[in-house]
Amino acid sequence: MSRVFNFSAGPACLPQAVLERARDEMVEWQAAGMSVMEMSHRGKAFMSIAEKAEADLRQLMGISSDYSVLFLQGGASSQFAMIPVNLLRGKSTADYINTGAWSKKAIAEAKRYCDVNVAATDEANNFTGVPPQSEWNLNKHAAYVHYTPNETIGGVEFPFVPETDGVPLVADMSSTILSRPIDVSKYGLIYAGAQKNIGPAGLAVVIVRKDLIGEVLEDQPSMFDYAIHDKNDSMYNTPPTYGWYLAGLVFEWIKLKGGVKAMAEINERKAKKLYDAIDASDFYANPVVPECRSWMNVPFTLANPDLDKTFLEEAEKVGLTALKGHRSVGGMRASIYNAMPEEGIDTLVGFMADFEKKHA
Ligand SMILES: *Cc1c(COP(=O)(O)O)cnc(C)c1O
Repeated sequence: MSRVFNFSAGPACLPQAVLERARDEMVEWQAAGMSVMEMSHRGKAFMSIAEKAEADLRQLMGISSDYSVLFLQGGASSQFAMIPVNLLRGKSTADYINTGAWSKKAIAEAKRYCDVNVAATDEANNFTGVPPQSEWNLNKHAAYVHYTPNETIGGVEFPFVPETDGVPLVADMSSTILSRPIDVSKYGLIYAGAQKNIGPAGLAVVIVRKDLIGEVLEDQPSMFDYAIHDKNDSMYNTPPTYGWYLAGLVFEWIKLKGGVKAMAEINERKAKKLYDAIDASDFYANPVVPECRSWMNVPFTLANPDLDKTFLEEAEKVGLTALKGHRSVGGMRASIYNAMPEEGIDTLVGFMADFEKKHA
């Protein structure tokens, strides 16, 4: 077997130890006589899997009992709609911070339900940073403030948590959740598609303050109501059981590694190695202002874009895969979530130096 270093932005690589455990439990889960995929979601076996996953996530992130943790389907993209549907609560406007492609999608969807006040945007700088909060134009009547702490495509990360003066703060943490400690109590709602830092595609995790739910817009589908999911422990309908199970294995793996604090140290070191390599050379470049550079997604360009194709082909040959940048940005992008081993970064950095020597 030869597993590659997979730099895909999502679905992304999973910890090998998790895959091996899932393999060992695939056909028969812990003497249950069947695989996790075949179990009733309401049976004792799956209930224990579900409860343990939630308890571990709560412990890892320090989530208090003031918050519900929901395991839903529909990806992060469904949350773009579910957030206004549930959190407007009689108000007609919400604040959004626009730092790139995913912010824009969230904004476009929210516009179906309310007046969106784009309180700050980095569009004039081609989304290479985060506007300082002193320049934001927040509306004190907003139902909530939405932002994207890590823009997966642009590789832009907030170096601060916004202050919203009591207005609920909503964060799309799809590509940064569990990469470091955060203070959950500063948030009204946190959501993430699983396929970057949690598990396989098909699961979305929503962490929402309980006092914010239950006042959904009229005439919405039941599946769009957080309160219904909360009341039913995310089992109003059949939940994505296998994804939930795998997420649980990833949470256990993070705990074993030392929790999110340990992850942060590793992630910071991994990212620094890669940015240092990019900055030390005129052959490679990253456009993001240094204090807003993402630990998770590192876009970079070659000084001569005619070499892009050769770079990708030669990288592939040494087991470095999915480095092609997003079609909207071009160049390269290395997504280096929790599950990317440090050895993957070392191999990439070594390859980049060799490639430069050969082609500069
Ligand atoms: C990937 C991603 C999404 C979209 O997730 P889906 O699960 O495909 O809907 C949304 N926001 C961010 C920040 C992402 O990285």
